[in-house]
Amino acid sequence: MVFSNIKPLREYLNKRKASVGLVPTMGALHAGHVSLIDRARQDHDYVIVSIFVNPLQFGAGEDYLEYPRDLESDRLVCEKAGVDVIFAPVASEMYGYGEPTKIIPPESMTSGLCGRSRIGHFIGVATVVTKLLNIIQPQTAYFGQKDGQQLAIIRQVVKDLHIPTEVVGCPILRSASGLALSSRNQYLNSEQLVTAASLYQALKLAETAFNQGEHDGEALILLVKEHLSKYIVSQQIDLEYVDLVDLVTLEPVSRVKAKSMLAIAARVGNTRLIDNIVLNINK
Ligand code: AMP
Repeated sequence: MVFSNIKPLREYLNKRKASVGLVPTMGALHAGHVSLIDRARQDHDYVIVSIFVNPLQFGAGEDYLEYPRDLESDRLVCEKAGVDVIFAPVASEMYGYGEPTKIIPPESMTSGLCGRSRIGHFIGVATVVTKLLNIIQPQTAYFGQKDGQQLAIIRQVVKDLHIPTEVVGCPILRSASGLALSSRNQYLNSEQLVTAASLYQALKLAETAFNQGEHDGEALILLVKEHLSKYIVSQQIDLEYVDLVDLVTLEPVSRVKAKSMLAIAARVGNTRLIDNIVLNINK
């Protein structure tokens, strides 16, 4: 069942007192999204997928207009995955036409990593997720570790605003090459797909070094950069950042702490890709 308006969706949900799990997405659904749906179905009677390319989280010059949109094929993916309800609003249904109220997450969490180049992005993310959680009021919402900074920020926003939804983080689904699945991978040609896979290979090298006892942040970051250097020199990869941060606070750490995230962002051609691995000292 597909809803594009808030009122009928709420009426529909009010009639059912079932437990609801929500998977917020921007559509162009792939197996990574389906892994979140599968997890939600394990936990809940009702699974809702929202599909909304949120204009507020795209900056000037980003790919808001080009972002892949195909509701019919997404609907089929959802049907196959056992989704009960799709919520696919248009922008005016979510924001009206005037200047919207916004949710501003802590600056310490939004100023680094992707926030350095994507100004205002996480205000857009926090705002839309807060709206979706208010509209649907799910018991649980599922997010991918793929967007590790986003996940940490959403956990913080939900906590700070006392939103009664449990946030569950789900592991990154990858293609056979190791490349993290992403709707933006559609932009890559076959050569770029090979180049893009080197981002994960570089993170894996650092993970191996970590498992062998290397806990120094600079050394781990250098390993990643060295592995990518031939692609950087040949301009096949434009590296934006490699950073080691605390998984929860997102503050930079010079050595791996309890749980840290080694995160990377880079452009392959015109396509901006992100990936990360979690390094856990207690494992
Ligand atoms: P998006 O449609 O890209 O906004 O993603 C919607 C949700 O799916 C977010 O919580 C993402 O982190 C998650 N997601 C995207 N790609 C993957 C992946 N490869 N593995 C797991 N979760 C993912």
